[in-house]
Amino acid sequence: MPGLKKIAVLTSGGDAPGMNAAVRAVTRGALARSWEVFAVRNGFAGLLGNEFAQLAARDVGGIIQAGGTVLGSARCPEFAEVGGRAAAMANLRARGIDALVVIGGNGSQAGSASLSREGFAVVGVPSTIDNDLYGNDVSIGCDTAINITLEAIDRLRTTASSHQRAFAVETMGRNCGYIALMAGIAGGAEVIALPEHELKPADVAARLSAARERGKTHALAVIAEGAKCGVHELMEYYGAHRRSIGFDLRVTRLGHVVRGGTPTAADRVLATRLGAAAVETLASGKHSVLVGMVKGEIVTTPLSEIDGRMRPADATLLELARVMAI
Ligand code: ATP
Repeated sequence: MPGLKKIAVLTSGGDAPGMNAAVRAVTRGALARSWEVFAVRNGFAGLLGNEFAQLAARDVGGIIQAGGTVLGSARCPEFAEVGGRAAAMANLRARGIDALVVIGGNGSQAGSASLSREGFAVVGVPSTIDNDLYGNDVSIGCDTAINITLEAIDRLRTTASSHQRAFAVETMGRNCGYIALMAGIAGGAEVIALPEHELKPADVAARLSAARERGKTHALAVIAEGAKCGVHELMEYYGAHRRSIGFDLRVTRLGHVVRGGTPTAADRVLATRLGAAAVETLASGKHSVLVGMVKGEIVTTPLSEIDGRMRPADATLLELARVMAI
């Protein structure tokens, strides 16, 4: 944007490992252009609450390896209302801020789309462990979440094989089963259940039972939390049909554990590239877009195009997982 001097940066929605690396990249990329940078605390709530703090290069030192977000994040229902966004915009303008970088997931980028439609310059950076953002292949945080899930799967496999058991591992993913799919393939799961693909408890049980009949000493089902066959339904089914299935079943819900911890190298590099790309996008005069990585290239997609859309997990990979489980 011509004459751009001051930007603000915030993290919004669920925290994702790598958000800090993105904040650092936005900050240092902007400072390198002699712009001023302001951190907004606690996501969109901080825009409404006037929680701004100017950032210098040293302020974002020592955070590249930290999980979560040092800026804080919050759900902010007021920002989904026109009046809330008008108040946020007034606070940004009162400080002379020319543009905002929003690091967050689908809901957060819907907020970015609304703010830019209403007249403020916004660039979105995709960061969510759900990986459900259109216009981007893999969001910041996914790689770490997949690796944490995989580590749990590998550990459960050891105990499952010792006791001739089946384990069902529930991992995060309400609408998009990307983590379950990738960790399931990497962990050699016998069954993967995704929100995008209908699978009944009887189907899961039949596959676990068939694995036993093929001579397997243990079996693993990886289940996204939003799958139609959830772990509760599976346990209920198992309770009623235990004898005919063979394996004993144990359930492990990973929950928020998959969000935590140190971001992987892949997430840090992705966050650094996308954070810097957000600044370059603004410098080139463009805004109202999401910066993303598609097929290894940085691309921009209008926020108006991603609003209301979802990137589903590639369910065709389920067939690959199935063949590998024979
Ligand atoms: P996660 O991937 O963890 O779900 P997210 O960015 O999708 O992250 P949400 O809780 O859905 O997280 O959204 C974060 C915030 O974005 C909300 O608290 C709200 O302030 C804002 N927001 C969500 N949807 C909209 C919308 N349609 N219009 C304006 N703002 C929105």
